[in-house]
Amino acid sequence: MNRRRTIQRDLVLAAVRKSRTHPTADEIFASVVDEHPSISKATVYRNLNLLVDEGLVRRVPLPGTLPDHFDRTLDEHYHVFCEYCGKVSDVDLPYQADLAARIEGMDGFEVFRHEIVFHGVCPECKAKIKAEKSAKECIGNGTERFEDGS
Ligand SMILES: [Zn+2]
Ligand SMILES: [Zn+2]
Repeated sequence: MNRRRTIQRDLVLAAVRKSRTHPTADEIFASVVDEHPSISKATVYRNLNLLVDEGLVRRVPLPGTLPDHFDRTLDEHYHVFCEYCGKVSDVDLPYQADLAARIEGMDGFEVFRHEIVFHGVCPECKAKIKAEKSAKECIGNGTERFEDGS
């Protein structure tokens, strides 16, 4: 690997490591290009994949066509995913190493590891939904009162 490549790889790794959340490739690109405007999206994506292959960054697999999120935490751990804003957070639950042993009917499969992603709604979205709902109820009540009066 030549020097330029090493520098680019280190920039991408640093961007993942300094993130407090689980950024998407686009978010990592945005944070790198902020300080290094000459770097291309393709370069960032290529280096991200490289870092995942090298085991320095983890990919958080999400269902369907949702963009991958990347993780600086390398220990096995679980995630919770907000279905409203797409935010991914760590879950405080010890890795269930014996889970594979409890699966029946594996027909000779040997399991190396597993991932669990819980689906739900984050506190911020929950508050927003609640606020929108109560705003709607206020409007609803107002209309009712208006209709009653006429
Ligand atoms: Zn959310
Ligand atoms: Zn994580």
